[in-house]
Amino acid sequence: MRRLAAAAASTIIALTVLPTAAVAQPSDDAGTPSGNHRDRAVRAPLSTLARQLGRQALPAGDGWAAAGPGTTGGSAAAAEQIHVVSSRAELVAALGGDNATNATNATAKIVYVSGDVDGFEAADGRLLDCADLADPGYSLEAYLAAYDPAVWGLVAPSGPLEEARRRSVTNQTHQTQINVGPNTTIIGLRGARLTGLTLMIDRATNVIVRNITFDDARDCFPAWSPTDGEAGNWNSQYDLVSVRRSENVWIDHNTFTDGDNPDSAQPVYFGRPYQVHDGALDITHTASLVTVSWNRFSGRDKLMLIGSSNTVGPDVGRLNVTLHHNFFDGGLQRLPRVRFGQVDVYNNAYRLGGDGFQYAIGVGVQSAVHAESNHFTLGADVSSADLLYDWGGTAITTRGNWVSSAGAPSRPVDLVAAYNAGHDPDLGPDAGWTPTLRHGPVLPAPLVPLVVRPLAGADRLPL
Ligand code: CA
Ligand code: CA
Repeated sequence: MRRLAAAAASTIIALTVLPTAAVAQPSDDAGTPSGNHRDRAVRAPLSTLARQLGRQALPAGDGWAAAGPGTTGGSAAAAEQIHVVSSRAELVAALGGDNATNATNATAKIVYVSGDVDGFEAADGRLLDCADLADPGYSLEAYLAAYDPAVWGLVAPSGPLEEARRRSVTNQTHQTQINVGPNTTIIGLRGARLTGLTLMIDRATNVIVRNITFDDARDCFPAWSPTDGEAGNWNSQYDLVSVRRSENVWIDHNTFTDGDNPDSAQPVYFGRPYQVHDGALDITHTASLVTVSWNRFSGRDKLMLIGSSNTVGPDVGRLNVTLHHNFFDGGLQRLPRVRFGQVDVYNNAYRLGGDGFQYAIGVGVQSAVHAESNHFTLGADVSSADLLYDWGGTAITTRGNWVSSAGAPSRPVDLVAAYNAGHDPDLGPDAGWTPTLRHGPVLPAPLVPLVVRPLAGADRLPL
């Protein structure tokens, strides 16, 4: 046990304390943070630790985002490209000035988030609501009346009201989807929260996002999809963070939550939950070389989709992602759900159970998941047989995973054997690759909850 404790301690030191090898000298950024916000005059200067954090790159070898050129984000930013923001308008300004074109702003930049930034905040500081974003031709009341399956049948909504809903979605996207360009680091100062918005990393190579609480990226205009699943589903547009068509992205030490707007509080329409959230962190549309480390994902339905289409096309050879030392606390599905990618899932802590739990790791079309030394704490209503789900895949490698069921002591679990004993067809035990991009030692699974639960999430980094 002493050796295990030493391994845990060295991992904590290696992965959560500033990796000095990755810190550039902050010699050129001693000036006052920029920004035009009303409270600039009283804003404290950035601490030395905060400046160092902004200058950090992903450590060498730390997951798939270390492949190719590695991930440096905005760490090389010039002094005038270091920003502290505390409103939506300031965030958009720091990312390049125009949300419609910021996705192509490749200037190296470090953006510190201070306090709450709300995606529904208008330019004048007023908080918009869904009615402000709705097209004049749309109302939920009219939508529910028109497309009730008892009236409309089980076909996709169409016509003027659906078109008005789509125009409303476009309005909301312009407001609450914040576009990020290449060579960007976004760091939360203590207590920073991005609420009611989607951070969209699309065609943006080399991006780092750390130490932020992402909260409630709600969709004002969910779509009714009568043929999705056996009984239809309400589907939403917005993830908390979306990574698309991008490479070398590092998502580290963030908290993903729905705050005071949980899925469980939503109404039921047409017999199905009115789903106003999509993924917490979805990695899709040929994105690849992503490392997701030390994040906390709190209870919600869908957490992480890696690959959004079964089409054997541009996603082949892409979607390579590493997930390590994340705390998945209470999600119902997609922890993650994988298509095509070589995905390394190691040293993650799961706490699962409760109403509606579906599965943890989804084994999708041509996926190659390597799940090693993870720890699962399960409620009485979740079986080890239900930790995997076959979404059209054929095999998954699982090694050294442990489970604690219904308060019993932890014990090793063969996830594939447990799945195969309860389901057909069987999954094969070899996904066909062995991860090499790992930073620091792999913890034995019994230590994972002890290390990961307290240290994963926002407001754990030193600054
Ligand atoms: Ca999504
Ligand atoms: Ca079987």
